Amino acid sequence: MRKPRITLLQLIVGLSVFSGTVAFANALFAAYHVQKEQLVATTLEANRAYAVKLAEVVDLYIGALQQQLTASASRVASMMDKPAAMDEEVLRVAEQSDGVIAAAVVDAKGDIVAYASQLPGTEKQGRTTSGIDLRGAAQERNVTPPYLSSQGLWTVALTEPVKDAQGTYQGFVGAAVYLQHNTELDKLLEEHFYRDGSYVYVVGSDGKIIYHREPRWIGTNQSQNPAIQALQRGESGTMPITNSLGVDMLAGYARMQRGGWGVIVQRPLAATLEPLHGLMWRIFWYSVPAALVMLLAVSAMGYWIARPLAILAGAMKSGDGAQAAPLIQSVQANYFEAEQLREAVSFTMALHEQQIGKLNAETMTDPMTRLLNRRGVSSEISRLLSTRQPFAVLALDLDHFKRINDTFGHAAGDQVLVALADLMRDSIRTEDAGCRVGGEEFLVLMPGASSEAARGVAERIRQATESHRMPGGVGHVTVSIGTARWPDDGDDPGAVLKCADQALYQAKASGRNKVVVWGA
Ligand code: GH3
Ligand code: MG
Ligand code: MG
Repeated sequence: MRKPRITLLQLIVGLSVFSGTVAFANALFAAYHVQKEQLVATTLEANRAYAVKLAEVVDLYIGALQQQLTASASRVASMMDKPAAMDEEVLRVAEQSDGVIAAAVVDAKGDIVAYASQLPGTEKQGRTTSGIDLRGAAQERNVTPPYLSSQGLWTVALTEPVKDAQGTYQGFVGAAVYLQHNTELDKLLEEHFYRDGSYVYVVGSDGKIIYHREPRWIGTNQSQNPAIQALQRGESGTMPITNSLGVDMLAGYARMQRGGWGVIVQRPLAATLEPLHGLMWRIFWYSVPAALVMLLAVSAMGYWIARPLAILAGAMKSGDGAQAAPLIQSVQANYFEAEQLREAVSFTMALHEQQIGKLNAETMTDPMTRLLNRRGVSSEISRLLSTRQPFAVLALDLDHFKRINDTFGHAAGDQVLVALADLMRDSIRTEDAGCRVGGEEFLVLMPGASSEAARGVAERIRQATESHRMPGGVGHVTVSIGTARWPDDGDDPGAVLKCADQALYQAKASGRNKVVVWGA
């Protein structure tokens, strides 16, 4: 199996960064869309309200012109046979308002009977139509659709019928209103013009543009424009549209009372959304400090979560129970699973230690007598040497044991060995170590004991053995003991053991059932 290289801390931090990023992107996305909807709705509504306002303004403007014409028509009714008075009247109409560029009186037969123009380069007054084109004019009160005049100028004409006292039609008074730059209408509409690609235009009931900031659009038929179609249906409102240049626009439109005209105010969608991009960036940058703080907090928390696991894993890996135990105990298990793991590791390590200890003890113990064996003796001597603690040593050997075996059998001999081991145990201190080093040969290691103390213990064992009735019908046996002391009898513990053996030999030689202190 591939060994994973990623750590828990990295996983936690990575996961947090990932989920944080997704959540943030999601929030940003949602904010963008909410803001966008809001901006679009606000812009549409602002454009609609603005279109309504402009429609009112244009209505008022045309209404004021119309009123002038009405007043003029009632005056002209009594002047139809006075050309000079009519000339004066049409001049007054033409000059009264900036928007009017020409005015005329047409009689019932359709002939122009008086005419005045403000257009430079045209005849100022006369009986011809050199400066005014009233082709669209009618006998009723009317506002014509826009038309290109004989001067090549886009124009609308307002007309007002002239009737005598009996109400008989006498003709009409007409005024031409020029739609292009620097006219009254232009000033009214341009005044409110935004700078960001927004614009205003006015359409007639036939779908032709009456007013546009760019003259080339005036007079063009835009009835495919859905906002114009809505105006033609008599509606006012808002809608997103794509203009004839393919630019997405937010349009508000309002119908005028007069002539079936409508005003459309539109603003490019891109210009509307422009502030949103800056806003998104600002939101992003404002979030950076909080994100950094969060990253730090997550890292700290990840460390807090991962740390106990890392320590426990390290302790477990070391395999050294004795060294790991305090480390495991010191682990700050901050949460439930870590505490469980700590307990499990602690338990497993202790069990492990215990089993190893048990195995160790077994390898150093003689199974029959439960005394230390040769390996146990070596280990105990090493331990004593490492602390440089002096010790006495007793070497024991049963007397004539061969005979006991021969007489009572090997099993009885074993029982004697076990019984002797018990007698030894009863005679020595807890810090002393009883050992079986051969078939019926024993040692006692006595840390810190003097020669005298060693002799005392040896004597106690000898007497206890002598007076004990051995099991298996063996009855009384005796033991010979030699003692020596480290470091008094040699620097090398091996040599000291040999001295004890020599003393034992002397005890045997001098009649058995004796204690001999080496060198005494
Ligand atoms: P001595 O007084 O000189 O020591 O006489 P001994 O008969 O004891 O002589 P030695 O020490 O040489 O004899 C050891 C005998 O101990 C030989 C063997 O039959 C017996 N023996 C050795 N190990 C065991 C054992 O584990 N169990 C039994 N039952 N007998 C053993
Ligand atoms: Mg022997
Ligand atoms: Mg013997």
